[in-house]
Amino acid sequence: MAEVQDAINVGKPVPIVLAEEDHQFILDEEALESILLKDDIKDRNVVVVSVAGSYRKGKSFLMDFFLRYMKATYHLNLINEDAHWIGSDDKPLDGFTWRGGSDRDTTGILMWSEVFKATLEDGEKVAIILLDTQGTFDSESTVKDCATVFALSTLLSSIQIYNLKFNIQEDDLQHLQLFTEYGRLALEDTGTKPFQKLQFLVRDWSFPYEAEYGAEGGQKILNKRLQISDKQHPELQSLRKHIKSCFSDISCYLMPHPGLNVATNPNFDGKLSEIEPEFKQNLITMIPMLLRPDKLILKEIGGQKIKAKELVQYFKAYIKLFTG
Ligand code: GDP
Ligand code: MG
Repeated sequence: MAEVQDAINVGKPVPIVLAEEDHQFILDEEALESILLKDDIKDRNVVVVSVAGSYRKGKSFLMDFFLRYMKATYHLNLINEDAHWIGSDDKPLDGFTWRGGSDRDTTGILMWSEVFKATLEDGEKVAIILLDTQGTFDSESTVKDCATVFALSTLLSSIQIYNLKFNIQEDDLQHLQLFTEYGRLALEDTGTKPFQKLQFLVRDWSFPYEAEYGAEGGQKILNKRLQISDKQHPELQSLRKHIKSCFSDISCYLMPHPGLNVATNPNFDGKLSEIEPEFKQNLITMIPMLLRPDKLILKEIGGQKIKAKELVQYFKAYIKLFTG
């Protein structure tokens, strides 16, 4: 049992893309290659899952639960059996660093060092890569940094999770337009939608009587927010058309509040026993909807599936476009 524990505790977050003091971005090629060019990984087509959105909104915290699911499903083969993957009540959470307080982290993209291997129903062997992003919207220059991080992670992922607090607001959509416009500049126009799945994830949703927690409630809110009507200002209409034209699939999930321990206790270490049961239940519902073997979305660029070794080249090419 100890061996199993050791085996599943491998991996760490590795900074791959980093903003320097002067707002230039650098790519740690060596680190990237050490993860993606491993013999058993480099020739597999990839699934790339990313989480983006502004700072201190629980992204890394969520990613740590993604990791628990990934380890249970793809290492221990506990597929779909039940909710055991979420772990015992008293185990502190670890993985991507997350913490309380409000001191800044650097802006950039982190990759989980351990790539998960999976076999799809049709027998195809794939590699699953998890990305966490960090950034702030404090000032004009950091908004630009954030746009770069968001654009890069959107370009490089097949599932982009847009993590928001409380609701989907008009300025969240405006930011999304800026980020995706930025990203689209990097792509040749092939006439197809440039990006794949966009998953809005609304944290601390507090109107369950208006739309229930979960995917259906999320769809309701999303439909409302992305609705286009003649009565809207033309700018609002074109914003919505733009977003819909960028992604082949857009959905939304409404998460309940995790409880005051998670939100405010500086000593909270991620134990499930201190997280609201309703939040836990929604993790158990939501995470497999994105990461179950039959839900995985392979990364495609211009309609072509991408191998891990090719992803390295795309990282290099895209970072060049966003620097200088
Ligand atoms: P990140 O900067 O977006 O990666 O945020 P972190 O994952 O580091 O979390 C920032 C803080 O928010 C931590 O204190 C978490 O305990 C807390 N947190 C995590 N998830 C939630 C949530 O869904 N709602 C609230 N209110 N706080 C959360
Ligand atoms: Mg974080």
